[in-house]
Amino acid sequence: MTALKVLILGGTTEAAALADLLAGDVRFDTTLSLAGRTQTPRRFPIPTRVGGFGGADGLAVHLREQQIDVVVDATHPFAAVISQNALIAAQSACVPPLAIRRPPWLPTADDRWTCVATMPDAVAALGVNASNVLLTIGRQDLVPFLEAPQHCYVIRSVDPPAMASLPPRAKIILARGPFDADSERRLLQEHAIDILVTKNAGGTATVAKLTAARQLRLPVIMVERPAKPDVPAVTTASDAIRQLERLHAQSSGTPRGL
Ligand code: NAP
Repeated sequence: MTALKVLILGGTTEAAALADLLAGDVRFDTTLSLAGRTQTPRRFPIPTRVGGFGGADGLAVHLREQQIDVVVDATHPFAAVISQNALIAAQSACVPPLAIRRPPWLPTADDRWTCVATMPDAVAALGVNASNVLLTIGRQDLVPFLEAPQHCYVIRSVDPPAMASLPPRAKIILARGPFDADSERRLLQEHAIDILVTKNAGGTATVAKLTAARQLRLPVIMVERPAKPDVPAVTTASDAIRQLERLHAQSSGTPRGL
């Protein structure tokens, strides 16, 4: 039996779950690829490489050199560049692409969301009057908030943000999900938060802040997702395994596409 060589583009809960599911499965020879943004990533039970490939061309070279049979784009909904590169590279190297696309969060009738397309739009939606703002957008997208120094910000991220990206009144909370609704409600109350700004990441690990905001009737500014390329996609790691199993059964080492 020939093992199917799988490259997972990761940095998400789904990529980690897929790595866990594929570990020790002799039908697959799997490598997880991380961009290297997180200072202390968790350890994975499969071979892991860290760092960019050098654009779509570099990724295509990697796919050919490593004789990858299938590339699984399990990157974050807001990581648009790598997803586009993955498609271009997969086409160039004649490797079938598969994506895990996490469904977005949807508002309920009790939510008070303002949906915006970009982070500068989120800054504008905060308005001119000073507010206490909770930012759960990661640490890479803070610069636009320098334009609104009148607000007091509580910024939660996994790793410390760069000092130059911080608005003047900013408090940093370092924490990694998953979070629950009770602790999220306490966080919102302790800091007297008036408004939450978040990205529509989807998934369960960080959804509790939306439950807490709903319970407290707080407004949310929701930054919607960038477009991702249209490729065969599933929503969970378990579904991805089923696609990989199908591909493995079809291929006997020579994949024909999903
Ligand atoms: P991005 O803008 O789409 O990608 C920028 C560059 O980072 C890519 O061109 C690529 O460099 C490199 N890269 C990204 N993902 C990679 C991977 N899995 N393996 C190797 N190289 C990768 O991505 P981003 O928004 O900066 O996100 C970086 C990573 O953090 C992603 O893996 C993503 O899943 C994770 N993440 C992102 C967010 C978010 O809000 N953006 C949140 C949580 C986790 P080269 O061009 O040199 O190949």
